[in-house]
Amino acid sequence: MNDSVAVSDNKILSENDYSLFSQLVNMNHEQLVFCSRPEVGLKAIVAIHDTTLGPALGGVRMWKYSSENQAIRDALRLSRGMTYKAAISGLNFGGGKAVIIGDSRTDKTEAMFRAFGKFIEGLAGRYLTAEDVGMTEREMSWIYSETKYVTGIPKSLGGSGDPSPVTAYGVYMGMKAAAKKAYGSDSLSNKRIAIQGAGSVATYLARYLAKENAKLFITDIFEEKANHLARETGAEVVSPDEIYTLDLHIFSPCALGSVINDDTISHISCDIIAGGANNILDDEKKHSLELQNRGILFAPDYVINAGGIINISSEMQGYNEKLAMEKTSQIYDTLLNVFEYSENHNLTPVEASNILAEERIKSVGSIKTIYSSESNFSNRQGEIYRR
Ligand code: NAD
Repeated sequence: MNDSVAVSDNKILSENDYSLFSQLVNMNHEQLVFCSRPEVGLKAIVAIHDTTLGPALGGVRMWKYSSENQAIRDALRLSRGMTYKAAISGLNFGGGKAVIIGDSRTDKTEAMFRAFGKFIEGLAGRYLTAEDVGMTEREMSWIYSETKYVTGIPKSLGGSGDPSPVTAYGVYMGMKAAAKKAYGSDSLSNKRIAIQGAGSVATYLARYLAKENAKLFITDIFEEKANHLARETGAEVVSPDEIYTLDLHIFSPCALGSVINDDTISHISCDIIAGGANNILDDEKKHSLELQNRGILFAPDYVINAGGIINISSEMQGYNEKLAMEKTSQIYDTLLNVFEYSENHNLTPVEASNILAEERIKSVGSIKTIYSSESNFSNRQGEIYRR
């Protein structure tokens, strides 16, 4: 039997091409969108994971992926994380994420981001984009010139601006909650804390920690960035590999995901892992269990780094920085609740937070079957995503 399917006169798809659908089914994704505009160098992927609670919200990341499959995998994993992040943070949004394949240092053009904005507009509000790794307010403004479905736009344009300071505040509060759980006190004074990455989130986080008198270590693949942050905060700079060999109280990954993996996990010596990066664990199930067995308390990343999404979601109601910070400070209680649930049910913190997020999606989702006249009129004035 021929497993191939003819889709046009000169293009035959083999059965393997359908494995993309298996990936969507395995991770419960709703939609995967490929956006191509070679004239302006745009190769983007938008992943929409789950829209039970509301439109999919999540940032766009620009990264020089080594393969298209790696970019797809990143978009799928990150968007799934956004669903859980919104759910556990009590937000009425689903999970989505976009990736643009390219070098954020050399490949950016106005036309590229405006083309991306047009594709986002075409999704008609099913996905709301925002700033993530490799992006700045300048690119968000370009995207905004083509679509209203964008958050985290500059303050000068009426948006909430860069979410990194709020994300960092949430990570700081979450780190304190983890310290409370591990040490009985949430003071971080004199704690040996290593921050991986010296980017936006890391910079604001390091400032909070320096103020509290923590003993800081910092690394970045661009040494000048680490040096710069170290000069400001009194941190010690270490090499990207050395960070895994330090004897620490807290390890705070604030660069990219999958940094706790089969190669690194046995080298890490700390009491707590609490960082701003998404998808810190390469294999969520395996590595969260391994950390637990080694007595390392892991703060699930999508819980602790939710400050950014809390910040951009508040843009929908008219941005108020004070309220966004207040809501972000609740990450402290959310995390303590996750730790308590995990202890009471003999689960890892990741399993506990997954269950708590899924329970909210299921229970809130169930009320959507109740007819309400408001849902009929929510399309007015493009307000569908502002509920
Ligand atoms: P950023 O691009 O400003 O900073 C990332 C830094 O990590 C860069 O300086 C980069 O050079 C460095 N880096 C990359 N790989 C590294 C490695 N192997 N070792 C050391 N350093 C490395 O990004 P950001 O906005 O600070 O975000 C950092 C992380 O936090 C990302 O995983 C992002 O998804 C996550 N996050 C960010 C926000 C936000 O508000 N910005 C919100 C939620 C989650």
